[in-house]
Amino acid sequence: MREIADAGPWMAAGLAGVLGLLVGSFLNVVIHRLPAMMRRDWLSESVGNLMRWDADTPTLWSQVFGPRAAAPAALERAAAEAATALDGLPPLTLSRPRSRCGACGRAIRWYENIPVLSWLALRGRCAGCHAAIALRYPLVEIVTGLLFALCGWRFGLSPEAALWAAFCAILVCQFAIDLDTQLLPDDLNYPLLWLGLAGAALGWTGVPLAEAVWGAVWGYLSLWLVYHAYRLATGKEGMGYGDFKLLAALGAWLGAHSLVAIILMSSLVGSVLGGGLLLAGRLAHKDVPISFGPFIAGAGLLCFVVGPQAMRQWAPFAFPFG
Ligand SMILES: [Zn+2]
Repeated sequence: MREIADAGPWMAAGLAGVLGLLVGSFLNVVIHRLPAMMRRDWLSESVGNLMRWDADTPTLWSQVFGPRAAAPAALERAAAEAATALDGLPPLTLSRPRSRCGACGRAIRWYENIPVLSWLALRGRCAGCHAAIALRYPLVEIVTGLLFALCGWRFGLSPEAALWAAFCAILVCQFAIDLDTQLLPDDLNYPLLWLGLAGAALGWTGVPLAEAVWGAVWGYLSLWLVYHAYRLATGKEGMGYGDFKLLAALGAWLGAHSLVAIILMSSLVGSVLGGGLLLAGRLAHKDVPISFGPFIAGAGLLCFVVGPQAMRQWAPFAFPFG
């Protein structure tokens, strides 16, 4: 083990990179299933709130409309029907069911699930029905592999490398999930925030704890203020609370002093991504809500890749507070 821990940066980068490819394969599952799991949870929560569990427990309806108010019978019947339908669904977790082809439902065998290589060997098509497998899958694996390799190269095989690898993995998920669904799951935002604060407390992120705490506070507050100012001025909602939480988490990891740089970087990511989507014809309608999550997540990854020293050197104007 000593030999591996003392391995040179290239060795560490290689090992971390291979691990990153495998983790990237799992991130594809997270990106695909976590929003579906959340939607299922929301529906079952709504249904549960409408159901009458027993005669003694007041329903949510009576808690809102008064103890004498009873929910319309049709509503309670519909809730019961929905509860039965939900119970009838096959389980959906990150580990179950096994990965299947989205077109024909064929279970994917282990040798068809080797990061990048399987996609190349199958020439991007399902072995059963020859439906195209999106380029997104190997792309997520390659990006995760490269980011993990950078963690290994920069920090060696160390707890710091593992911590920053977690940072990268979560941001890759948030980037893709928000791009697909306009959601930024709390199940990813909160662990990112806590890990950043814990990493600072342990001295593993290189950011003093006080800087990390203020980074989280100002990260949240800055977007919260922009959101409410925009809403007062236009009556519209420009972004969601997930965006505030994500910027708070990045503030915890990169420190309060990096927030201006993160916001500048996110407008850079935004213009590149927006231009790309425009070219791909996905922004044809102006009514499509623009999500800021991918810009913020992309900015966090870029800040990590460039590194704090180089950022201060190249763009001193992005650090007006020292
Ligand atoms: Zn298929």
